[in-house]
Amino acid sequence: TEYYLKNIEAKAHLNAYVEVYAQEALATADIVDAKIKAGTAGKLAGMVVGLKDVLCHKNHGLQASSNILKGFVSQFNGTAVERVIQEDAIIIGRQSCDEFAMGSSNENSAFGPVKNDADNTRVPGGSSGGSAVGVQADTCLISLGSDTGGSVRQPAAFCDIIGFKPSYSRISRYGLIAYASSFDSIGIMARSIEDTALMLEVIAGQDDFDSTVSSKPVPSYSTELGFSGKAKICYLKEAVESEGVAKEIREATQKKIDQLKKDGHTVEAVEFPLLDYILPTYYILTTAEASSNLSRFDGVKYGYRSENGTDLESMYKKTRSEGFGKEVKKRIMLGTFVLSAGFYDAYYTKAQKVRRLIREYTEKILSEYDFMLLPTTTTTAFKIGDHQSDPLAMYLADIFTVHANLAGIPAISIPNGKDAAGLAIGIQLMGREFEEAKLLAFSNYLL
Ligand code: GLN
Repeated sequence: TEYYLKNIEAKAHLNAYVEVYAQEALATADIVDAKIKAGTAGKLAGMVVGLKDVLCHKNHGLQASSNILKGFVSQFNGTAVERVIQEDAIIIGRQSCDEFAMGSSNENSAFGPVKNDADNTRVPGGSSGGSAVGVQADTCLISLGSDTGGSVRQPAAFCDIIGFKPSYSRISRYGLIAYASSFDSIGIMARSIEDTALMLEVIAGQDDFDSTVSSKPVPSYSTELGFSGKAKICYLKEAVESEGVAKEIREATQKKIDQLKKDGHTVEAVEFPLLDYILPTYYILTTAEASSNLSRFDGVKYGYRSENGTDLESMYKKTRSEGFGKEVKKRIMLGTFVLSAGFYDAYYTKAQKVRRLIREYTEKILSEYDFMLLPTTTTTAFKIGDHQSDPLAMYLADIFTVHANLAGIPAISIPNGKDAAGLAIGIQLMGREFEEAKLLAFSNYLL
């Protein structure tokens, strides 16, 4: 704990943490130490954990990196956080993210941009940018983030670490601030598959506080990490051929494919005719869900309230105008539009249907293959400010990650070398629903 606290200080310029719990972490470390000596310590004893600023941690501040939650303190622990504490992990701090987990660069945080430790002029990715940098800069062993459309995997790829999101409903969402509830999943960012698997096995599974969570038994992921035999893997032609993917990323992906073939695995290209619909479907449905989820922030129940209201309605309006940032407002407006009476069927209902087609088509492919392999991102970490004038470029960059959330399947990003400038490249594997154990074991073999 002392080691990580020192690193947090030395790396303060990266702006990864909103709050550091130095005294509390040291006190917990002493307690855990005594438990280890007594032989009563939990499964995560001594694991130093960072939490994305969207996870409820009792008696600690929580803001989703937004001004609208200024001053808000959690009244309870979310299920994942509670389980991590019960197993004697040490929570070291709260990490910055894009406001309400909306973004791909961590530039949308009310606490200012987070910097990539490999090159301070570049973004760490987002929305779990602070959590990725937390692990990258060795300021914690592991971070818990959230992944609605890639927010754990994309920053992991930009920061040269592992980013994993399980199947939808594998981990309880209780105590995770909602962005788009039918997409949201808690995700894990770490340096090793062993740590990722151990964390998953602690936080996954049945929970009385989330009616959507799966009641499937939780395998002992961390003891099932050996992979033997041959895998059948598919990839999208576009991922290695499309001009929209940076050349060095295409080459690194191709190299991985060649290596896998050489090692005796079956690797084949498949068509995904719905590729063009992935991003529009994602952005229609997530903004719709967000506009509904974020209606609770009205100045009455949580955090910030504008001083400038003259009656109830103007208080609502002023609170929301002053409290939310630009990207969040944009998405609330888009979501309200696609849900409005005259457009509901044309956008929202249609997108729901397309989502089902994407899911079914993906399931069909994965009934023939163990995994789908593709790059995590289309570029390496870009410069801070680079995409600010072109929001569409920012959305388009999510093409390979949102797929897994639309389909509800598990996906992981693992390091796959670096480009000529020394920037990290990630490769992504998606697996069948609830086949996390196999996905983690194969990732372990690949690393
Ligand atoms: N970049 C995507 C978005 O802005 C993904 C965000 C996420 O997974 N939370 O919606």
